[in-house]
Amino acid sequence: KFISFEGIDGAGKSTHIGFVADFLASRGKTVVSSREPGGTPLGEKLRDLLLHEKMHLETEALLMFASRREHLAQLIEPALGKGDWVLSDRFTDASFAYQSGGRGLARAKMEALEQWVHPDLQPDLTLLFDVPLAVARQRLDATRTLDKFEREQADFFEKCRSEYLRRAAQFPERIVVIDSTQAIEAIQVRLADVLEKLL
Ligand code: C5P
Repeated sequence: KFISFEGIDGAGKSTHIGFVADFLASRGKTVVSSREPGGTPLGEKLRDLLLHEKMHLETEALLMFASRREHLAQLIEPALGKGDWVLSDRFTDASFAYQSGGRGLARAKMEALEQWVHPDLQPDLTLLFDVPLAVARQRLDATRTLDKFEREQADFFEKCRSEYLRRAAQFPERIVVIDSTQAIEAIQVRLADVLEKLL
């Protein structure tokens, strides 16, 4: 099975991926944990470019999907073929949230890329870790007040979050929204419950 993990930066998703991996391993599943952008040697090179180079918005979207194409071919599809469980820290919902929601690229273009790169495959489950922006910011940096650039960033993340929530409303069977303002223990109880249903 294929599980993707989503949420804006600071939503706490990375903390919970480890819990899900351990939970599934304790049930005897072989778990492969990966991430996007990245997940393969070429994908990690693309990640480095994506995170550090200035580029056109559409170049960014295309490289995200190039990384994803490689990730599917080299890692995700072979692992699923063997019956392993794949956990991916971000997948296509992140492209909708960041490149469309955040940066404003037309959703139709994202849908076209999705159709091209994975017309027949979707995660079996997507865990969306959701927190109000103020909480996310506090977690990322509890001490400072925001400068102008960071306030613009706050606006950007708010748009990303809205798009994530819109996707969750559109695909309620696949996307489970986890209220990440809760204590870690409470979130783990919820995760265990959701995973039981998938096992
Ligand atoms: O998940 P992680 O925090 O490692 O992602 C690295 C960065 O890449 C994030 O800060 C996010 O802003 C960005 N990203 C993006 N578009 C995606 C996936 C990630 O802008 N489709």
